Amino acid sequence: MSNCFESKEAFKEAFKANVSNTYGRDFEDTYEEERFLTLGHMVRDYASENWRATKNAVKNSQSKQLFYFSMEFLMGRLLTSNLMNLGVYDVVKEGLSDLGIDINDMEEFESDAGLGNGGLGRLAACFLDSLASLNLPGHGNCIRYHYGLFKQKIVNNQQVELPDCWMKSGNVWEIWKPQHSVRVRFGGTIDAYMDQYGKFHQTYRPSLVIKAVPYDEPIIGYHTKTTNTLRLWDAEVDEETAQSGSLFNYLDDVTQLTANVYPDDSTPKGKELRLRQEYFFVCAGVDSIIRKHLRTYKTLDNLGEKVAIQLNDTHPVLVIPELMRVLMDDYDYEWDDAWKIVKETVAYTNHTVMAEALEKWDQNLVRSLLPRIYMIIEEIEKRWKFFVDHKGLCGIFNQVSILKDGQVHMAHLAIVGSHSVNGVAALHSQILKDDVFKYFEQIYPGLINNKTNGITHRRWLLYSNPQLTKLLEETIGPEFKTNPAKLEDLMDYVDDTNVQEKFFAAKMERKQILADYVKKELGIEVDVNSIFDCQAKRLHAYKRQLLNIFGVMHTYMKLKKDPSYRIYPRTFFFSAKAAASYSLAKEIIKLINIVANKVNNDPQTNKYLKVVFIPNYSVSVAEILLNAADVSEQISTAGKEASGTGNMKYMMNGALTLGTLDGANVEIVERVGFENAQIFGFRVEDINHMKHENSYNVWTYYNNNEEIRQVVDSLRNGVWSSNPDEFRLIYNDLMLRNDEFFVLGDFMSYIQAQAEIDQKYRNRSQWARMMLINIAKSGYFSSDRTIQQYADEIWNLKPISFK
Ligand SMILES: *Cc1c(COP(=O)(O)O)cnc(C)c1O
Repeated sequence: MSNCFESKEAFKEAFKANVSNTYGRDFEDTYEEERFLTLGHMVRDYASENWRATKNAVKNSQSKQLFYFSMEFLMGRLLTSNLMNLGVYDVVKEGLSDLGIDINDMEEFESDAGLGNGGLGRLAACFLDSLASLNLPGHGNCIRYHYGLFKQKIVNNQQVELPDCWMKSGNVWEIWKPQHSVRVRFGGTIDAYMDQYGKFHQTYRPSLVIKAVPYDEPIIGYHTKTTNTLRLWDAEVDEETAQSGSLFNYLDDVTQLTANVYPDDSTPKGKELRLRQEYFFVCAGVDSIIRKHLRTYKTLDNLGEKVAIQLNDTHPVLVIPELMRVLMDDYDYEWDDAWKIVKETVAYTNHTVMAEALEKWDQNLVRSLLPRIYMIIEEIEKRWKFFVDHKGLCGIFNQVSILKDGQVHMAHLAIVGSHSVNGVAALHSQILKDDVFKYFEQIYPGLINNKTNGITHRRWLLYSNPQLTKLLEETIGPEFKTNPAKLEDLMDYVDDTNVQEKFFAAKMERKQILADYVKKELGIEVDVNSIFDCQAKRLHAYKRQLLNIFGVMHTYMKLKKDPSYRIYPRTFFFSAKAAASYSLAKEIIKLINIVANKVNNDPQTNKYLKVVFIPNYSVSVAEILLNAADVSEQISTAGKEASGTGNMKYMMNGALTLGTLDGANVEIVERVGFENAQIFGFRVEDINHMKHENSYNVWTYYNNNEEIRQVVDSLRNGVWSSNPDEFRLIYNDLMLRNDEFFVLGDFMSYIQAQAEIDQKYRNRSQWARMMLINIAKSGYFSSDRTIQQYADEIWNLKPISFK
């Protein structure tokens, strides 16, 4: 294929011809959306050349490959990222412009691929970008959900969930590969027998067979040939198998399997379908890896040498028994040999320490849905017990068992079957070692390691903040684009008032873009000279959006009571989705919106204080929200947020972190210094101490502090709503359940921290200096660094060499 992106003229000609040929009209008569779809396909086809070259290079050099198994990939839009990574953005932009098309309008036609809940899925997407950009052969494996999580609307101050039809115009990046489909079997019975050599065999008679069909998307590296694959599995009917139930029910089962992203990332409910989804993409993914491996190597003996599988949390942990099943049942391996291969191949990343979020499945459900897999898990457990008991650690088996109290503990299965277990920030990994998995650490010292999360600086700096990128290039040169550690060079300019003013101007441009968006979408006017204070993340009690809005409520009431009280003008931005079944979280969204309405419409205060709730938090919203922030709120209860990655996006765009010493905030402060962040609140040790002594009493804070009392009372006394029960869940959770997340315990410390920010912002030069230092020190949080550590320390993965 001739390169139609070689020049503007070549592009224009090819583009016009393609649109016209595809839709059978003169170019001038085609619709904008048709032009977008054609452009997407042209980019995909252009990437195919490198895709092929990458596959050949890996095959010829027999390189090891990574497969990143994740239930979620929060990809967002790909047009800009793909064009820029390919280095053809300007050609396309100018070509389109000649044809009277604004590239920004084209971008708007793409829907976010929101195949995930939040941070965990976004991490997977950042990792794919880094893998390809570092020339590492690493691919994603996930489900082709027909609908994303949900689209959030706010109606009468409350969250309403609408279906997220992200594929309503198709998905331009994917290629359907029916020839690579896999039959996935569920339910039914197993007949066991012995052959004439005394060897054990079994025949599996499933009650349900669903065909998994892959759709592949190219993952394009930054200015490199490397093009990896994101493989999304869809469900189709299997024509060859007579199903046990009615045809109608069968079609329903097939449809449901890939309908929706599981709508809850904290408390597993809605059980069986979710377990089906997990096994579905695991079974299909493992099968395709095995088939591809055998085509090249003819044996599975070297699987661990040529393939690494990373489990993004426990959702794909069935990889472990599934790989055992394939090796033993399909390829005649003995247990010990198969187990060795599995452990060499698989590694596990933990993302949470919250007991209720550690995945557990009912043993009966696993046994009935996946009978053979369950047998294998029982055998793993039996051998694990033997191993632990014979290490002289008999007393501890109960703490590390996989099967306990009628449940399968997925994290324990993941640890037992992996050669590496990692946490996602230094503090989090330490908590895993000292607390959550301490008995495993005793059995396998050194097994638990840390890989601090990162974000792709390409999407989160280069592409979504061109103003800052341009200024950085002018100031320190372009090297930081390929080597983000080079951002450190900015340290030479932090006291240069001339440079400081330019960074203020770049920040102001981003604030104006956000302000325009808010005006257009919500009709709210915000003052770009106010401090932009942002908290955008999933709504969860432990993330404490409540602490933030309590701070706003406190400030508002104080402004009303004392007309001489002044604050530096501030705009609080919130953006958050709550799981549909999470009533408390939804009530907090309602509180934020009711407070926003009241505060924004009060002429006495609204020159100083505004609150904006931006609906439908997503990658596209994040791309315009985070880089406009002056203050980044990272205020989770210490010990609860494994890492956070939002915190890194803000830092890289020059916001000050207002945070607790939790997750990766600890490492942010370690780099910028306490004087360039605003840290407050209980530390992990304080929280542990209070829990241990059982000494936290929410009523003590309430009774002893007038300001706290006023805020809490305002939930019921008519300040915000005439209905005293409007915020009953919030009130009860705090006051009758002793405030599990220490909101009131941290409140005064938070108010103090906000007051200090108010003072610091008044000193323009000091603030600019902090902004510059945060940007300068953010290179460490590029996911390129994270991925290089995984590659060196867990996967033993080497860059592809193109001959
Ligand atoms: C980065 C990101 C997250 C994660 O945010 P945290 O603050 O780390 O929880 C969630 N959702 C989207 C859309 C993101 O871009």
